[in-house]
Amino acid sequence: MKSENLTTISKKIKIEIGIIGQLPFGFDEEFIKKWKSKIFEIVGDIKKCDFGHNSGLKPEEYRDSFLEEKLPENKEGNFSIWIMYVPIEGNFIARYLSSNRVILSYFEIYDILKQEHIPIENFLLRSIYRHLIVYLRNKNEIPIQNNSKFPHDDTRGCIFDMNGNEKDVVYSIDSPKICDKCIEEIKKDGIEDSCINQIKKEIPRIKKHFFYRISDFLRKKPIIYLLVLILSAILFSLIASVIYDFFKN
Ligand SMILES: [Zn+2]
Repeated sequence: MKSENLTTISKKIKIEIGIIGQLPFGFDEEFIKKWKSKIFEIVGDIKKCDFGHNSGLKPEEYRDSFLEEKLPENKEGNFSIWIMYVPIEGNFIARYLSSNRVILSYFEIYDILKQEHIPIENFLLRSIYRHLIVYLRNKNEIPIQNNSKFPHDDTRGCIFDMNGNEKDVVYSIDSPKICDKCIEEIKKDGIEDSCINQIKKEIPRIKKHFFYRISDFLRKKPIIYLLVLILSAILFSLIASVIYDFFKN
């Protein structure tokens, strides 16, 4: 797609999303397609690419060179993100290919998300925001080199956390942010304040379901948790007593 100035929010960035092969877990495509953003839009349907029933490859052989050749080129979007479950080259979370294509692997990440009750779609959403900033900072191009200068080693709950330890991914998937240092760097690369502010407004919406947020809150506040337990027990006992009296009479 023709390169144009997208560092403001006057034009939305167009992103193609695709799934490689079969995912062994449910994936809510509608949730991704309906995500409201003033920064990007998903173009077309979620695409599918299958290498056949038996590609003859071992999982560790899903190397960049193989994917480069087999994956369709990016046609409608400024860039595309393809998700898959098998491990990718170097067991990285993401790999970058030519034609502005990003490969995202849920291998091992799925178990981490499941354990923390994080919706699996949040991992893709965080990656969309991360890579659209990478795309803008890199003069409207996804760099092919994976060792990009944008992520930082330490874990700050920022969408640019390196996540050398994959388990740390949980810190930047539930209500993620962009840390002050990254904001500074992003501004230096010419991204306008209006664009940055809009992204900062949208990414905290990437969060766990309400029930698990309440559950997390109570785990962090044991006194309140205890009070809720006591009050619930009293309430249930009262309800039981009212029901008993009603049927007795
Ligand atoms: Zn950061």
